[in-house]
Amino acid sequence: MVSGRAGGVPLGMPAFPRAAEAATGDARLRANLRHATHTIRDKRARAVAELPDWAELRAAGAAVKDRTLRHLDHYLERLEREVTAAGGQVHWAADAAEANRIVTGLVLATGEREVVKVKSMVTQEIGLNAALAEAGIRADETDLAELIVQLGDDLPSHILVPAIHRNRGEIRDIFRARMGDRGRPAPEGLTDDPADLAEAARLHLRTKFLDAKVGISGANFMVAETGTLVVVESEGNGRMCLTLPETLISVVGIEKVVPTWRDLEIFLQLLPRSSTAERMNPYTSMWTGTSDDDGPRAFHLVLLDNGRSDALADTVGRQALRCIRCSACLNVCPVYERAGPGRPCARGRCRGSLPGSGGSPGPGCGTADRRPTARSARPDPFRPPGSRPRPAPRSARSPASPWT
Ligand code: SF4
Repeated sequence: MVSGRAGGVPLGMPAFPRAAEAATGDARLRANLRHATHTIRDKRARAVAELPDWAELRAAGAAVKDRTLRHLDHYLERLEREVTAAGGQVHWAADAAEANRIVTGLVLATGEREVVKVKSMVTQEIGLNAALAEAGIRADETDLAELIVQLGDDLPSHILVPAIHRNRGEIRDIFRARMGDRGRPAPEGLTDDPADLAEAARLHLRTKFLDAKVGISGANFMVAETGTLVVVESEGNGRMCLTLPETLISVVGIEKVVPTWRDLEIFLQLLPRSSTAERMNPYTSMWTGTSDDDGPRAFHLVLLDNGRSDALADTVGRQALRCIRCSACLNVCPVYERAGPGRPCARGRCRGSLPGSGGSPGPGCGTADRRPTARSARPDPFRPPGSRPRPAPRSARSPASPWT
């Protein structure tokens, strides 16, 4: 498979009818997907049922998202002020090319040619690995599933479990064949036992964490009132990637901002139960700028628009900006389960919902019938007529950034 992307569309990916024809004929792929999605959704149903106020939580999350999106420019500028005051540097990227240029320039400026990455689905969106490779920079994925995808020259197939289409026998074969190409090889006689596979990945990644001078991450949330970024995860690899390198570069979509910690509290209840069916995820990492005593010495936040302002200007499409990437809708989607991962669905209606809605994506759980406010109904709150898309006024951008 080809891993490069342009404009958010995977290069070399066949059109939906052709991809679906091949996928529906792949019995192993369908079995892998059915097993994984049914397991996750059954666990999620039990986790959600524990909370008597789940519906109210979802509604509260949707209300926070709507309020934030109506005043997105205000909260992004507050975020920039707080990140800068805490010692970080903010860069604004209007599109994938600009984001890639910024990140590549930042890495080259450190003198390093290797980076570790985590929580990096947004960098899949912009094709960052290919851009880094063109500049002679090697990027190693450290999330276990993203490592499997990278070693297999594959594409992610699920926003939460990117290697959901692989069973453990396939993962063993990929580790045996490819781990040595990118560092410490798989142990002799590696089996498909999950504990053995996890240990192989742990050994392979540990040296990368200890050697890395530059880390690249995404984030689940950004808290405007303090300039704090938040990553939730299950493996602990994220925390290693976020704390050990000397330079941390976080690439985050502008819709990930929430105004306050009280708002964040709602999403930290919604996301774990709706994504991994956990009451609380094992690792929640939060950082604000830099510290002399701990963690990276330099922190860069790349705020990515890449079409989000256009979505915000679309009275229906803006619902997609509420999404917290819990992936619950994927696990109940009959088209996804049968026609295979990574292919754009022909129905194309699953574009926004109440956060953590899980199970009723598209118009059924969206708010297309809600009347937009006067402010949110503007064609584009950020873009002067005739100018190119950008997430905030030029005057709000960091003047210290040489790549913006
Ligand atoms: S659309 Fe809703 S259910 Fe699907 S990933 Fe986003 S928040 Fe979760």
